[in-house]
Amino acid sequence: MDIILWLFAAISLTWFMSYTRASLSSYSLTFAALMAFGSLFNIIGIVSWLLFAVIALPLNIDTIRRQFISMPLLALFKKIMPQMSSTEQEAIDAGTTWFDADLFRGDPDWKKLHNYPRPRLSTQEQEFLDGPVEQVCSMVNDWHITHEIADLPPEIWQFIKENKFFALIIKKQYGGLEFSAYAQSRVLQKLTGVSSVLASTVGVPNSLGPGELLQEYGTKAQQDHYLPRLASGEEIPCFALTSPEAGSDAGSIPDYGIICHGQFEGKDVLGMKLTWDKRYITLAPIATVLGLAFKLQDPDQLLSEQQDLGITCALIPTNLSGITIGRRHFPLNIPFQNGPTQGDAVFVPLDFIIGGSNMAGQGWRMLVECLSVGRAITLPSNSAGGVKAAALATGAYSRIRRQFKMPIGKMEGIEEPLARIGANAYLMDAVTTMSTGAIDLGEKPSVISAIAKYHLTEKMRSSMIDAMDIHGGKGICMGPNNYLARGYQGAPIAVTVEGANILTRSMIIYGQGAIRCHPYVLAELEAANNSDNEQALNDFDHALFGHIGFSISNIGRSLWCSLTGSRLLSSPYEDETRRYYQLLTRYSANLAMLSDIAMLSLGADLKRKERISARLGDILSNLYLASATLKRYNDERRKTADLPFVQYAVEDCLYDIQHAIDELISNFPNKIISKILRVIIFPLGTWLNKPSDELSHKVALLLQTPCASRTRLGQGQYLTRDGCNIFGRLEQILEDIIHCEAIHEKICRALDKKLPFYPLNEIAEIGLSNTIISKAEAELLTTTELGRQWVIAVDDFDSEELTATSPSI
Ligand SMILES: Cc1cc2nc3c(=O)[nH]c(=O)nc-3n(C[C@H](O)[C@H](O)[C@H](O)COP(=O)(O)OP(=O)(O)OC[C@H]3O[C@@H](n4cnc5c(N)ncnc54)[C@H](O)[C@@H]3O)c2cc1C
Repeated sequence: MDIILWLFAAISLTWFMSYTRASLSSYSLTFAALMAFGSLFNIIGIVSWLLFAVIALPLNIDTIRRQFISMPLLALFKKIMPQMSSTEQEAIDAGTTWFDADLFRGDPDWKKLHNYPRPRLSTQEQEFLDGPVEQVCSMVNDWHITHEIADLPPEIWQFIKENKFFALIIKKQYGGLEFSAYAQSRVLQKLTGVSSVLASTVGVPNSLGPGELLQEYGTKAQQDHYLPRLASGEEIPCFALTSPEAGSDAGSIPDYGIICHGQFEGKDVLGMKLTWDKRYITLAPIATVLGLAFKLQDPDQLLSEQQDLGITCALIPTNLSGITIGRRHFPLNIPFQNGPTQGDAVFVPLDFIIGGSNMAGQGWRMLVECLSVGRAITLPSNSAGGVKAAALATGAYSRIRRQFKMPIGKMEGIEEPLARIGANAYLMDAVTTMSTGAIDLGEKPSVISAIAKYHLTEKMRSSMIDAMDIHGGKGICMGPNNYLARGYQGAPIAVTVEGANILTRSMIIYGQGAIRCHPYVLAELEAANNSDNEQALNDFDHALFGHIGFSISNIGRSLWCSLTGSRLLSSPYEDETRRYYQLLTRYSANLAMLSDIAMLSLGADLKRKERISARLGDILSNLYLASATLKRYNDERRKTADLPFVQYAVEDCLYDIQHAIDELISNFPNKIISKILRVIIFPLGTWLNKPSDELSHKVALLLQTPCASRTRLGQGQYLTRDGCNIFGRLEQILEDIIHCEAIHEKICRALDKKLPFYPLNEIAEIGLSNTIISKAEAELLTTTELGRQWVIAVDDFDSEELTATSPSI
């Protein structure tokens, strides 16, 4: 037997076994068989057998392996392991992993993805959307809210309280609506289309706040007291964590409480004296109950032997003496109620701690756990709703507004941003649906919620910029008829709150993802922290060798995918989406490999190398965004008319993944590793392109043409055509304009003359006088001209109207 043939067989087998993630014992046995075969043909001699024995025996005999390999490596691991604060540890422990873990591990199961049930609204939830939500949307005058009164008008406050908008998540037994996360998301999407102030006002109490914390951790007495009052709107809650000195680093809040005896309502009780200075607190100016995060100290050891108990959350009625509340911040002309609050030695009983005194010091864990859920709902939904509304409005405007004798939407320069908005709208709806669906399945998906929060708020910001550019001056000039500018102005608010985006990208997504989604890293970390040395060694040994096999497998898979262009990978569908599944599987294998190599070569430094962590997070995020898009397409029964949205969105994600990997490799600190990585991942260079011009043309056309795909894109938005709703009116005028285009064409053809498209009333006269069109057609032209004029009009004001009326502004 030829030695070359034997070597070829050995390499192929190694590759196959690594690809299929074979166990260490299977590797060893297969190799032993291969060597025996080689011996038969005199290829393998005694030296090779000795070498094999020296490597294979210690690896396969547990006691030797643990003593001589795992133990020294465990000691080294403890040394290089990044130091973690307790707040970081609690943040990492919070929540659960879901399909994000599959994407992280290099071999996603696409059937599993498509088998997750599609979230659906219950009858009660649908009725709420068709009833109170529709009604409150019709009550909104956003200019009145944002410019004239800087608040919701009293009738809207009353309506949302009476109709339990603040009780979407509160259980029915307490008088709440107990809606699913998916229903909550749909409510917020619809509200945000008409008013960001309304959506924020409703979103916050249903997200991270006293309601959620009470339901999860409150004592029965606290639940019985507060939840019915929150559900009926009798109490207005807010939650105060952020301090002037502690923003992103919220674990470092200087606000404190000292346990002591004191008088409360005439009785001597064990309580705490609270002192705080908080800012940016949504609903604080009008709150009746303040959820407060502070550090609890027990210097006299009145509660336990521990003096520093840590971050604690309590509910404080805002009418107690020593509390300052009521002043407002002015966030980017989106005047939802938001402001600072201070407390000076406010004494309250220990019973005011959420969950009672047993929960003293558990505040950080409570907050991060709730954030794992809330962060996936409120801001992503508000962003998705805003972009869906902007997509329809901008599509309509592009078809209605003409320059150079044609609709601006037919110009290639406009098609480009229009396509980005359309694809984003499709993807963002897909991501909110899939992520809230995970919550309704019982998950608390901390990594997914960070991905959804970061990417959907960023996509909202970029889409609003695109929409503004397309509208030109119409977007710039503020007034009652401007339906875009407030969304554009307010976009950075969503980017900043619930974890400012740079931090979320640089630290949270990959930081949590690497530890939570990786099959072995958490087990290794836990083993390293275990004080029982024997158990620690056993666990570490098991995790370490699993990890090594996993890493080898991902290298083998990555190389195989690169060399075959991933064309031999399986896909659940053999249609236009087939390549997407193959490429996503390939990039998932690349992520698993890159992640291990980054952790191994950078160790504790990876925590400081935020650019590396951010790019790894970008890969994971885009894998998730593309998966959600493909799931939506599948859940909606693979309607081929929607394919341009799907193709644009997924190709954009794939391109971004390639870009993130490319940048990561180029900037990898170790240049030798960087070169090896490039050979494994991009042996033929980077070859994926951004979505093509042809695809962008198709998406832009869909946005400008009433059709089933466009209707699906705007599903759930407030589009009622009552004459007052700007978005409904735009939809009507778009349809009319398209009919008028055909009538105009008919007249031009009959007269064999290219007439200008507008004014349409003059076209109507020409058509009628030449008996080319019917009276009804002439009427349509005339009314559409009025609509067209309304669409292109902008507001103007007397100088005095623009002057602030309050002397302090
Ligand atoms: C309108 C509004 C409403 C809010 N509502 C509430 C509320 O109801 N309750 C509440 O408690 N808080 C609330 N917040 C606070 C909000 O969650 C914090 O503002 C946010 O976490 C950021 O803190 P900061 O603004 O102080 O920014 P800073 O912490 O000063 O951060 C500044 C910049 O540095 C970046 N950064 C910070 N650390 C890192 C890092 N390690 N790596 C990379 N970049 C980093 C951030 O991403 C940001 O871009 C609200 C804020 C606003 C503006």
